[in-house]
Amino acid sequence: MATTSPSQQLLEKIVSLAKRRGFIFQSSEIYGGLNGCWDYGPLGVEMLRNLKEAWWRAMISRGDIEGLDASILMHPRVWEASGHVQNFSDPMVDCRECKSRYRVDHLFSEMSEKRLKAISKAANLESALSHTLVMESKDLTKEQLAEVLTSMVEKSSTLFAELVAKELIACPNCGRVGMLTEPRNFNLMFETYIGPVKDAANAVYLRPETAQGIFVNFMNVWQSARQKIPFGICQIGKSFRNEINTKNFLFRTREFEQMEMQFFCKRGMDEHLFESWRETRWNWWLALGMPEHKLRFHPHEKLAHYAKAAGDIEFEFPFGFGEIEGIHNRTDFDLTRHQEFSGKSMQVLDDETKEKYTPYVIETAAGASRGFMAFLCNGYKEETVNGEQRTVLRLHPFLAPIKVAVLPLVNKDGMPELAQSLERDLRKTMRSFYDDSGAVGRRYRRMDEIGTPFAVTIDSDTLHDQTVTIRERDSMQQVRIAMGQVKSYIAERITL
Ligand code: ATP
Repeated sequence: MATTSPSQQLLEKIVSLAKRRGFIFQSSEIYGGLNGCWDYGPLGVEMLRNLKEAWWRAMISRGDIEGLDASILMHPRVWEASGHVQNFSDPMVDCRECKSRYRVDHLFSEMSEKRLKAISKAANLESALSHTLVMESKDLTKEQLAEVLTSMVEKSSTLFAELVAKELIACPNCGRVGMLTEPRNFNLMFETYIGPVKDAANAVYLRPETAQGIFVNFMNVWQSARQKIPFGICQIGKSFRNEINTKNFLFRTREFEQMEMQFFCKRGMDEHLFESWRETRWNWWLALGMPEHKLRFHPHEKLAHYAKAAGDIEFEFPFGFGEIEGIHNRTDFDLTRHQEFSGKSMQVLDDETKEKYTPYVIETAAGASRGFMAFLCNGYKEETVNGEQRTVLRLHPFLAPIKVAVLPLVNKDGMPELAQSLERDLRKTMRSFYDDSGAVGRRYRRMDEIGTPFAVTIDSDTLHDQTVTIRERDSMQQVRIAMGQVKSYIAERITL
């Protein structure tokens, strides 16, 4: 019988809680689900909105960033100019035996170091490296080895087949060696048609990233918002990628939400801005409660065709570290390409030198859905308190879907009425929840499990002195305050 690892078990518990409590449902579940698509339930949608709000505020409150909401369908030439039609593909291989499909880079990144070294030897990696700046394979980390091997396979049409024939690469699912096909390039963009006729002339794509909506609107925003360079444009929205393998819950899905910001600057300022955005974004995750030891910055060895420098902020998911945000120095690549393809100028005037130039771009590209999952995973804790088990979601109060629960200690003596009236009042300014069913301890547990930071209890003392108990989720400490102060007490503690 297949056994699941502790990290898989942890992920399963998180997925199960997310479903049971209404954070995340499988898309079209009653029809068996749709791979790579998920629905946000009542609590999930609140938490996701809070996450996006935290990001939006951090961007807009600076004063040098403007917002945008571009359409998902764009002119097909956009994706030719951006390089997506030509380059946005992943080499993939199939297993002839069990029909599983893999991305080549994932195959390598999931191999053991020993296996990677054996493959490196067979692929004659040393001689390939002697043409580059990195001289010897022994200097490379496991991740770097996997990246270098992926790029060698991408460049050579026969290398992968040779490695498979030498029985060095097994199918991770069925374990058979020699059964993987040659890599084929698979474009990740979803195609659809504008109008009633389904032919190539009417084909459009669902955007695979939000960034291009910002680039093509650069001039519109610059001129209408009267910003001076350097300034940024930010956007939150859905993106679509026909991912080969969707796995690990919300981590890799076919429809997801991104929070992207492009900061336009003059060449020469780009390197400094890349570093400062890297720090700003890192601190944003920390401010929302990510512990530093669960994050790491992974600089890219292999740069995308447009990038001068790039790196990822990674979070330690139960299955290992994975990217939650990319920070890229895209140079003037995108604006130059759009200028070329559209024939419209993307140049601005330098006020001092009176020279025209095409701005450079520093991009911060975070995943709202992936970030959401990271916060769920980070928050999920099982604890024993006074000999009793509790599951608690330690979310930053700003992210918590419900901020406060109002509980009458017992269902009599006017306590429910008082609690309901307090809850109705709180509901006007924050998400609150009234609960009178079961023992108060169990009601606390139900709130802990969904990350509600505060619970207010109305008891018999409330009836004569108008005071209530407020219990805090993480410390479980209780304070007694006047009922009239509840709103301000909580409001102060749920801000960022
Ligand atoms: P990966 O290497 O994991 O495929 P990427 O480098 O292609 O990601 P970017 O194009 O830089 O990702 O996108 C920026 C952010 O968008 C990522 O950091 C991630 O949070 C999110 N993202 C990208 N692809 C997906 C996806 N398929 N599902 C969920 N989120 C995604």
